[in-house]
Amino acid sequence: VSGRALLVVELVDGAVAPAVWEAARVACELVGGAAQVTAFVPGAKAAEAAGALAARGIGDVRAAADPRFDRAAPGALAPLVAATASEAGAHVVLVAGTTSGRELVGSVAAAWNGAAANGITELHADGDALTVRRPVFGGRATETRRLVGGRAVLSIRPHAFPPWEGAAAPLRLTPASGTPAASAFGAERTGLDAGTSSAGPSLGDAAIVVSGGRGLKGPEHFHLVEELAASLGAAVGASRAVTDAGWRPGSLQVGQTGRSVSPQLYIAVGISGAIQHIVGMVSSRVIVAINSDASAPIFRVADYGVVGDLFQILPALTAEIRRVRAG
Ligand SMILES: Cc1cc2nc3c(=O)[nH]c(=O)nc-3n(C[C@H](O)[C@H](O)[C@H](O)COP(=O)(O)OP(=O)(O)OC[C@H]3O[C@@H](n4cnc5c(N)ncnc54)[C@H](O)[C@@H]3O)c2cc1C
Repeated sequence: VSGRALLVVELVDGAVAPAVWEAARVACELVGGAAQVTAFVPGAKAAEAAGALAARGIGDVRAAADPRFDRAAPGALAPLVAATASEAGAHVVLVAGTTSGRELVGSVAAAWNGAAANGITELHADGDALTVRRPVFGGRATETRRLVGGRAVLSIRPHAFPPWEGAAAPLRLTPASGTPAASAFGAERTGLDAGTSSAGPSLGDAAIVVSGGRGLKGPEHFHLVEELAASLGAAVGASRAVTDAGWRPGSLQVGQTGRSVSPQLYIAVGISGAIQHIVGMVSSRVIVAINSDASAPIFRVADYGVVGDLFQILPALTAEIRRVRAG
């Protein structure tokens, strides 16, 4: 479509968050190339991050290099994002599908008077309107929405689009205009539970998740799941049987009353596949189940199933993955 897009860039420890590149792809493809995209980068390290954007072709960068943004609640950014979107002549604002990104979408839409949609997996332009699709009800249905009015604010579902890789463009770095009122910083983000019990990617954003269930028999065996996850660079998840029993914290629970995840690969170990668990992981791209009971319901949603004893399979699998990865 004609017009421009604004990409909101989230920084993690001063570097562009990986999910931003997925939003960048949607932005660039929607408006016909990186030259039509303006990036908005908040935070103390905004200028450094601008170089990474120009290296992938997004050279028009507006920086709000105010260190207060590094700890601000996402809503504090909304007035600046809205002002920058208008200035840049954007008709769509793309935001990474992170926790902060999803939170930002609503407040930017309100400040900019645009339509909002979170977690989109498809997007088509038809005239001035945008049609977006996204999974709802734990992946059991797909919602299609037509956004009219010429202004849309969208976040992308993690891993639904490949990261943008564009050829480098010259950097034009300008300060974002408008100074936020001090009251905008009334709420400060002092921490965010990453949802993992150990080092590794966070459950919500990970490309691979390995989850363990009651089949592990006790907390003393859960390290088998954690070691498999570590060998794959995966996040660790759990069924409610595990979190209710206190084997692992509730932040790891996947399912209806836990987290919904949609990684590229989900490995369920010793999990029976109760519907309350399935709704939290069924939109994963590839599902692998390891269970000793061939009639376990998890095999109905699995792309690959291994019927067998996890106490034999997991150590062998972890050792083999480590061997292959060591090259
Ligand atoms: C309102 C409500 C909300 C809920 N929300 C959630 C939720 O968010 N998330 C969630 O997970 N659950 C949730 N539940 C609970 C859910 O119904 C199940 O009770 C739970 O998911 C079962 O966990 P599990 O699969 O680990 O255990 P089980 O159902 O006990 O399954 C254990 C599995 O391990 C297998 N196994 C045993 N030994 C081995 C072995 N040696 N090798 C390989 N496999 C083995 C067994 O064959 C079995 O299939 C909810 C329930 C309710 C009522």
